Amino acid sequence: MSKYKDFETALSFLLDYGFEYCSDINNRKCYKNEYGELMLYWKMIDYDYGVPKLLIKINYNENIIDIDKEYLSLGKKRTIGFYDMVHEVIKTQINKNNKIFDLRINPQYYDQINYLRIINNLEIIEEIDNVALKGILKCNCGCNEFYIYHTGKQTKGILSSDIVKYKKQVVMNAQCVNCNETIKIYDSTFDGIKPIDTKKYEFKKLVLKKDIDTFKITIMYNYYKEDYKTNKFVECFIDVESEKLKKFKRILEG
Ligand SMILES: [Zn+2]
Repeated sequence: MSKYKDFETALSFLLDYGFEYCSDINNRKCYKNEYGELMLYWKMIDYDYGVPKLLIKINYNENIIDIDKEYLSLGKKRTIGFYDMVHEVIKTQINKNNKIFDLRINPQYYDQINYLRIINNLEIIEEIDNVALKGILKCNCGCNEFYIYHTGKQTKGILSSDIVKYKKQVVMNAQCVNCNETIKIYDSTFDGIKPIDTKKYEFKKLVLKKDIDTFKITIMYNYYKEDYKTNKFVECFIDVESEKLKKFKRILEG
């Protein structure tokens, strides 16, 4: 028994992630969002054992994906229809790590996707037992040096982290020194296991020791096992380093 009859219905869950279904210039069907498109179409020359392989075109890059093989590798038995397999494979890959297809999702849908909001900008350097991970912030241009802007309160960093919440709220943005792209690295109204919806305040630039304002940023997350790598982390620590700072400085404990 198959549940899905065609490409459109098999991938209609993408609508929840801000995609729309449309045709491209060659009248082929695809799902598209502002960052690019996901297009699947038959490539009959790869037709073997009665199961066609798919050519996947994403943002003008073409990759062949063997849906049948990918489906079996999920540990499932081949008992459903082909489009059901398409649905399972694409959905699993997006839930697991959308980097596989380089299929970018609009940030406003992150909460529905259930993965760490900034995972695409983290170069993971350490993972511990599915409960902790540590990564270095990296801009899409490859640069890892940033200015930091925040809405919290800056302290002297002696008894607490350098930035603490201001009226129960802090948002922290990192701005790439190379290309100016801004990455929201922490938002207490959205991130973590207990986000608190509050008013947002004005951004101030983080400057340490009077003139240090560019930083390499390391972020650490602690999790409950079942929520690992989602946006539902228990704690988050943000450390910065700079050539002019003698050691790491913890700027946020969230
Ligand atoms: Zn950049």
